[in-house]
Amino acid sequence: MPLQRFRPISGRCKLCRGEVELHLASTVSAPKECPKCGQEIEPCPSSIAPEAKINVKPSVSNAKAAGFKVLKRLDGGEYESQ
Ligand SMILES: [Zn+2]
Repeated sequence: MPLQRFRPISGRCKLCRGEVELHLASTVSAPKECPKCGQEIEPCPSSIAPEAKINVKPSVSNAKAAGFKVLKRLDGGEYESQ
């Protein structure tokens, strides 16, 4: 039985956490309502990749916050702590 993901059209739901997985028999049409909360739901497009949780460009402040020592390269091949 295929497992299909659905999400409430409103995008938010406390009961199903914004997404619900339903087992669908091929003979049964897609449900229109969330069985948990009753909101209107739509199938999740399978082509959409999960959102990246880490999408932050490296920066000096972030590196420092993460405990890295940030060095700045000086002319002449020496490094200076920033
Ligand atoms: Zn729901």
